[in-house]
Amino acid sequence: MLRKENIPSLAIWETPFYYYNLDLLDRTLTACRQGLDRYGYSAHFALKANAEPRILERICQAGFGADCVSGNEVALAVRSGFAPDQIVFAGVGKSDREINIALEAGIFSFNCESIPEIEVIGALAAAQGKTARIALRINPDVDAHTHHYISTGKKENKFGISPWMFEQALTVIRNTPSVELIGLHFHVGSQITDLSVFATLCKRVNEIQQWFVDRGVKLPHLNLGGGLGINYKHPTEDPIPNFEGWFEQVYRHLTPLPGQQIHFEPGRSLVGQCGHLISRVLYIKEGLEKRFLILDAGMNDLIRPALYQAHHRIENLSASNRTDWNPDAETLRYEVVGPVCESSDLWAPEVDLPISQRGDLVALHSSGAYGQVMGMRYNQRDLAPAHYSDELA
Ligand SMILES: *Cc1c(COP(=O)(O)O)cnc(C)c1O
Repeated sequence: MLRKENIPSLAIWETPFYYYNLDLLDRTLTACRQGLDRYGYSAHFALKANAEPRILERICQAGFGADCVSGNEVALAVRSGFAPDQIVFAGVGKSDREINIALEAGIFSFNCESIPEIEVIGALAAAQGKTARIALRINPDVDAHTHHYISTGKKENKFGISPWMFEQALTVIRNTPSVELIGLHFHVGSQITDLSVFATLCKRVNEIQQWFVDRGVKLPHLNLGGGLGINYKHPTEDPIPNFEGWFEQVYRHLTPLPGQQIHFEPGRSLVGQCGHLISRVLYIKEGLEKRFLILDAGMNDLIRPALYQAHHRIENLSASNRTDWNPDAETLRYEVVGPVCESSDLWAPEVDLPISQRGDLVALHSSGAYGQVMGMRYNQRDLAPAHYSDELA
């Protein structure tokens, strides 16, 4: 993690920036890989969580495929070295241009989210003289018990094909020789910390698979999506997510068809904890009832708190260093905010930190997933760049 001896090196770089701990990334990839290998499962990294070239390179080298949600992500995955036959493509609104990119690349599977989409993929594949492998992304109506903005598997969500559409979907597939159905796909939400959600999902998957088996449909592949959560409250104590627990739930509750290959799509769990947004204290402003700590990192650098009230642990690295990392050092209560002209540019309404000063280096932990990749230039601010642990002096 971030250690006292790292501070002088971090202090050289202009803030704000993302700092990635490659050693933790490697250990996380290894832990996931070992869990997968125990059960013979395979996994595709969800590129939308982090698309930094050095991160993708390591994930690709560790033997993961790619899970994409846009044509440009498919193109990036191919450019980054992921084998096309390990690339899957989901999303409710795939444009013709995006479908053509994926057809030209020869990806493993389109995860189809509606019946009209299957028809369009069929027509575009036929025009290219190809057969598109597809999986049906199913909406299983399972509650992920997570924030409603990152819940995707309830019947009111826009994602996936619901059971009442199955019959018609099969008819369309049977009448479209340029598509080949290879399996089913599920992804019910993100930041899932209650592992029993995966047990519930598996029981639904078993029922849904049976419906297809009863109609003589062959399903060589089954993709259970991503969603495993990370510990935002205690990132340092608990840096590696419980991959073993996730796969074990699936092993216990899923009834795979004979010879069926099981796939996963982890995003957040692989990259969340290895990234930190590093910022500096610009000002301390004494209010009447509160004390503002104003950072030079804002919602344009990391939008999760403003977008879904997410919390990132805040650590004043310089102050911790001054007090010799003594957890009992005197603290003050701060409202920690960013510089952007929006009241939602708020890191934490109330947080106790060691006495802080202008110029202190502050880390916003657990920022490796859905952080840098969602960066934007609102207020004409610069995009925060990436720095890596192997650049430290
Ligand atoms: C976002 C997404 C994922 C990754 O979700 P995490 O919660 O980051 O693991 C996987 N599959 C699909 C289809 C997605 O949209």
